[in-house]
Parts: sequence; C-alpha cells; structure tokens
Amino acid sequence: MVARRFLVVHDDSDFDLHYDTDDGFEVFQFQLYSLTSVPPHQQKIFGAEQDTPVVNDSDLVAISDKLRLVSVNDSEPEPSAADLLKSDEELARLLQAEEEALMLQQYVASENPREFDSRVRPHVSQVRMYEDATRQEAARKSVPMEELEEKALVSLAKEGNFKPSKIEQDHAFLLQLLFWFKRSFRWVNSPSCHDCGNETVGQGMAPPLPSETLYGASRVELYRCTVCSQLTRFPRYNDPMKLVETREGRCGEWANCFTFYCRAFGYESRLILDFTDHVWTECFSQFLGRWMHLDPCEGIYDKPLLYEKGWGKKLNYVIAIAKDGVYDVTKRYTRKWHEVLSRRTIITEPSLSSLLSNITKESRRGFASQLLSIIEVRDMEENKELERSLHAEDDESLSLPGRRSGNEEWRKSRLEMGSDKLSSSACPVRLCVDEHVTRIYNAFRPILYQFVGEELTKSEAVEVLRITKGILLDLSKSPYKTRRTSIDSVLDNPKFQKLLPSFDDLLGALSLEKKVNTDGRVEFCLVGDPVVTSLALPVALDALDDMIYILNKCENYGKDMFLLPFLKLNRIHSGSAIASSEELPFGIITSAFDGTRISKWEEPNGARGCWVVYRTFGNEMFELVAYELMSANDAPERDPMDWILEGSSDDGISWQVLDKQTSQFFEDRFQRRTYTISSANFPCNVFRFRFLAVRDIQSNSRLQIGSIDLYAKSIGKLRA
Ligand SMILES: [Zn+2]
Repeated sequence: MVARRFLVVHDDSDFDLHYDTDDGFEVFQFQLYSLTSVPPHQQKIFGAEQDTPVVNDSDLVAISDKLRLVSVNDSEPEPSAADLLKSDEELARLLQAEEEALMLQQYVASENPREFDSRVRPHVSQVRMYEDATRQEAARKSVPMEELEEKALVSLAKEGNFKPSKIEQDHAFLLQLLFWFKRSFRWVNSPSCHDCGNETVGQGMAPPLPSETLYGASRVELYRCTVCSQLTRFPRYNDPMKLVETREGRCGEWANCFTFYCRAFGYESRLILDFTDHVWTECFSQFLGRWMHLDPCEGIYDKPLLYEKGWGKKLNYVIAIAKDGVYDVTKRYTRKWHEVLSRRTIITEPSLSSLLSNITKESRRGFASQLLSIIEVRDMEENKELERSLHAEDDESLSLPGRRSGNEEWRKSRLEMGSDKLSSSACPVRLCVDEHVTRIYNAFRPILYQFVGEELTKSEAVEVLRITKGILLDLSKSPYKTRRTSIDSVLDNPKFQKLLPSFDDLLGALSLEKKVNTDGRVEFCLVGDPVVTSLALPVALDALDDMIYILNKCENYGKDMFLLPFLKLNRIHSGSAIASSEELPFGIITSAFDGTRISKWEEPNGARGCWVVYRTFGNEMFELVAYELMSANDAPERDPMDWILEGSSDDGISWQVLDKQTSQFFEDRFQRRTYTISSANFPCNVFRFRFLAVRDIQSNSRLQIGSIDLYAKSIGKLRA
C-alpha cells in the first residue's frame, strides 16, 4: 500500500486528493467524482507535466503527483481557446465598467457624511449592548442548549462525521441556533389585539411611554382592533434583552436579537445593515475560515447573493457593524459592482472609507496591541476575499428562493418575490449515511416472526408495537447523553414479556441495551455513542408508526407478514446520490434516504421534470426487486405523479428501464407506496429516477419526496 497525495487541476481549481494505491483505479475515479462532480465516464486524466493520459492500467504508484482532469461531456464540446478568451474579455469589460462607474460616482455622489453617519451610528451603540455579560447570560438561558447541541451533532453524523472537531461542532451549533431562532421568533405585520386577540389595523405612530423608552423603543406603532376597537401598542424595541423576552418583530428586531444570541454564544458577529432596508447577521466561521452570511428572518445562511440574485434587490450600501468597528461589506453581496457603485450617491468612496475607518478607530480605542494586530490581519484577509469573490463566477447551483418571511402583500410591495428560474442542476454528489435505516428495517424480521410464532392476533401485535413505541418515545424525550427509561408494564403483559428477546436486534440497531432487574423491571439505556442513538431513534419511531399503520389496514394478517411493505429486507444503503437540484438546507437530496418522515428532498424546479441518480456503495451490483416512495409532510401538489426508474450496470453510460409509473396518487401525507420490479434480473450499480410530472404542474413549480427506499434481491453483509 502506498498513501499518495495528488494535486488535481480541474477547471482552474485545485483539488487535494489523498489516495491509497491499494484501492484501485475505480475508487480513484470515484474520489475524483466526489471532489469535482465529474462522473467517472466523463473523466479524462492527464499527468500535468508530461501530459500522458492516466488510464485503468496506469501505475498509480509511479504517476506524477500533479494531475489534470478534463471533463468530456458527450453533448458539450470541450471549451475552445476562443471561449476562454471571451471570458477574459468579459472580465476586462467588467473592470472597465467598474472603473468608469467609480469615476462617475465622484461627480454624482453628494458629500453627505452626516447623513451616512446618522444611519450607521445608532447601531454602533446597539451592538455594544451585546457585550453586556448579564444580558448574555439571560440570552443563553432562553435557549434549549442541549437540544441544539444534539441536533448539531446529528447533522454532522448525517454527513458521516461522528467524531467532529471543536470548530466543526461550533459551526454546526451556529446553524442550529439559526434554525431554532427562526422557529421561535414571531414575525409581526400588525400585532393581534392585546384584549381579544383579533386582527388590528394601523393607526400611525404614538409617543413612547417611559417603560418603552427604557428598552430603546423610540418608535411606537399604534393599532386598532377590528372587533373590539381597543388600541394595541407595538413598541419597536432596540434593547436585545427585551427582544429575548418579546420574541417578535420585523427584520430589524430579528437581526438585532439574533446577532445578540450569536455574541452570547461567543461567535464573532456583526449586525449587517443594508441601506435598501433589510438587516441580517454575519458570523466569523472558524470552520470556513471566513465571514458567513446568516439571515435569521429567512433561516438562510451562507448565501450572500440571496438579495441581489434571489430577491432582485438593487443594493447600494451594505455595512457591517461590530464591537470592533464598521466595515463596508457590500462587495460580498453583489456581482454587479459597477451598477452598485452608480447607486452609491450619499457620499464619495474616499470619504466613505475615511468615515468608516474613523468609527472603527473609535471602537478599537483601548484594545491591546496584540488583539489589534489579530483583527488587522483578519481585516486584510477579508478585503482580499471580498475583491476575489466580486469577480468570481456566479454559483448557478445556488437555489435562491424569493423572500418567505412576512405576508405575501408585504413581500410584493418590496418587489422581492424573486423568480424560480435561478436554480440549475449542479448539486454536489452526496453520501447517504443510512446504514442504520437498513439495520432498523432488518430488525423487524425477528419481531414479526415472533408475532406469527406466538400466534398473536392482529390487535395484540398492534398493542405490542404501541408499547415499544412508548418506550422509544420516553427514550427520545430523555437527555441525549444519558438516555434511559424503564418499564414495569412488561410484567402486566406476559405476551410482551415473552416477545422481549425478539427486540434485541432493534435495540442493537439503536445502540441501546436492556437490563432486566431483580424486581422484574426492565431498563433500557445507551450502550455506545449517544449520537448514534439520536440519529437512529426517529427512524425507528417512524418505522413503528408505519408498521402499526399497515398492520391496521392489512387484510391478510399473518400471510403477508414476511413481504413488503411489512418486511423491508435488503434495503440498499450507504450509496451516493446527486439530484437535478435541491432546496438547501432542508430539502437536501440525502433527506430522501435518511429513513425519517419529516425530512424530504425538495426540488425547487422539479414539477415538470427532475432527476436523482443513486450510485451504490463501492459500485456493488444489485438486482432491484422493489422500491418505495413516500409522500412528504405537506403540499400534496408537489407529490410525484409520473416517473421512470432506470438502472445502469456501466456507470450510467447506458440505461435500462426498470419501472415506469403514471398517474400515481398519494392520498395521505407520509404515505408509502410500494412498487415491485417485474423483471428483477438486471444487476445495476447506478439507479436513476426521472420524475416527469408532479400532481399539480399548473400552480406549482416544485417536487418533493419524503423518502426513497430501494430493495435488492439479496444484499452483501452489512459493514460493521
Ligand atoms: Zn380586540
């Protein structure tokens, strides 16, 4: 075995590839696939220096460690020299336009530092409040820390990372904090009546009361109830501590409070002020090594082009305000800098930088010199990054949704509805971490056998499954690091007592064990990594619900117990999937393979056609006998209706139709439909679903699927 490290150049990007020569050429190609999204059959690899092609029988120990990857697309020719020249020309034109815009801006911009200052200054004192230890303590107390910590670890585990580093955990926690905040904060257009809870209508402004100005509410909106005519006040509080208590407002309150939460948990954070009337947050992610955009109103992160591209905003000034200074971060949020420049008319660019640098100097007064030099290095890095990203290619794979917080009218009035045309199909290949799902499904086999062996009636079987569900529910409610529960009801139910050993596989799949105490009580507790249990418990609960549902509906109880949909044996797992598109973060393609109901794959433009390609782990060949699709949690109009399932045995070069369905109808949410393959004798290592239409293509552009499960004739041994 030789561990080698290659530098692979592809499309002007460098990729680091660590490779073990024992793994063979195929694995090497697959690693390249994961890094570059160029599928193996489109890969042409060359030694960078000699330009010798690297092929199946090349000596991977001896080849040069600098490689060049070219993607050979059947339909698209390789870019010619003329095309490359054109993009250089484009860049030159863009730079020229920026230069001209900057020149022009000098003459057009008024010199109005006072106006600029008055817009930024109040926020400078606002962010200082975030540093108050008492306020921070109170903020932390209002957050369900352990729950978010668990969710962060589970989200990492779903990417296959069961041993995350501190910075990976911190990054994942920040995202969970964002999602929690989005769920727990309330958007207010007009407040509901404080007396009777009915709708109110705006009546203008009112002078603030002392109790309101105490928390920085210099502006108070007044609303009259449409039913009881009482007046309701809506003070626009500035004090983030007050917002932790009220948990409501519009984007100003949301961003103010969320940025404060980020500070309370120790993240370097900034309040971002967009002069075209929006506010959000940036945090420095140690994991990414750079500042990251977070929009608490939308629950969206790291999509800085959301506003310009997604909402069609005409940005001018985007200013970051932090405890250590104010920064012009506009360049992060635009790819049309020359247009933005033409709208920057409050102040000339040189005056703007000197104004910002003056406020920054004030903010940093008294900072130790060591801290100052750290911050200065960080600032320099950021400036370099901002310049770089300004002329970077647009990432077309980003799906940028129209604004979703606030009611439709409010959104329309801001002309920020966006369009769905923006997304395209350049998602990365994602690994499915779902071996536990297969283990859990397999674990039902001994249970079902026991049901039949012990001659349980249908209602007894349902009862046993309900008791099991109760135990797992108790466990899922107990703190994740020390999960345990005990039952004594097992003694009241002799049948259950007898059945108990048949549940050992299920407990094992959940990384749990049972202990029977001397007094007859049965205790269930953790046996391994608590995160494994956190990941698997929801899958087992959903599987139980599913089983109870089909048992209740089943007419041939006993006879059909060892067939699908009861017994889900030989589920294919641990492969990789790539979709035509996915709505991030929650509509990610791997959600269709994670065994939980509530997560789903959402294809933002999939209503009239989209696809998923699933490649088996290690390219193992399987003969598919059946598959199941489950409808998602909501929006039946997005359910798939017509599709074709194909299989390939040659890495997707040629395809064979395995199944074809039309006019399929899911009556319920979370409903599974099972399809058997009529000619199940074609071994495949790649599967492709082509979804042709959803239930309603007239009023809806999206497709969503709760889960996709593939079942093989037989399956190799589960990996440990
Ligand atoms: Zn009322």
